[in-house]
Amino acid sequence: MYISRVSLLARLFLPRAICRIDTGGKKIAYLTFDDGPIPETTPYILDTLKKYGLKATFFCVGENVKKYPELYQRILAEGHFAGNHTFNHLKGWKTPLKRYIDNVDECAQYVSSDLFRPPYGKMTLSQYRTLKNRFQIVYWDVLPPDYDVNISAGDCLNIVKKKTRPGSVLVFHDNLKAKNKLPELLPGTLDFLILNSFEIQPITNNMGK
Ligand SMILES: [Zn+2]
Repeated sequence: MYISRVSLLARLFLPRAICRIDTGGKKIAYLTFDDGPIPETTPYILDTLKKYGLKATFFCVGENVKKYPELYQRILAEGHFAGNHTFNHLKGWKTPLKRYIDNVDECAQYVSSDLFRPPYGKMTLSQYRTLKNRFQIVYWDVLPPDYDVNISAGDCLNIVKKKTRPGSVLVFHDNLKAKNKLPELLPGTLDFLILNSFEIQPITNNMGK
């Protein structure tokens, strides 16, 4: 499956990237959201997290933060964490090194963080080598395909239920493709994790160092 392959590749070739966190078996799941902030989904996610009293990490696209600074401020004001996800959501494998790093730097003008997640999970070895000293690079091990319109929220939820283990890093999308699934998928995930005694945490800047 695509998702596992990315995670496996990351583990083999990008040794300092986080895929799953060693919690010593402790049931902790780490919650992350990619691609926002946008008015169509971010407020719903924030409202839901507030209702559950949870914090998460948002890997933000710089151009969205530039467009919606008040949403970005709300993320931080409500105690969540932000990460850099490039300015234009670039595909690393298709972008020359300098352009990629410049785009990360442009995002960094709007998102102050030493966490970085490459869009699509794809970055070249030279991009990785350049960024790994500046950032904690964060992948994931559980990614329900919430961006795929052919897959239902229920199927996504089943993937979360099947794949989440102690230390798992879960990723959901704070974007238009995932919008219709969020109202079922997000509370469904949180209920499942809570029912199964998982502590739910954000990824913070000092992990894996
Ligand atoms: Zn993304």
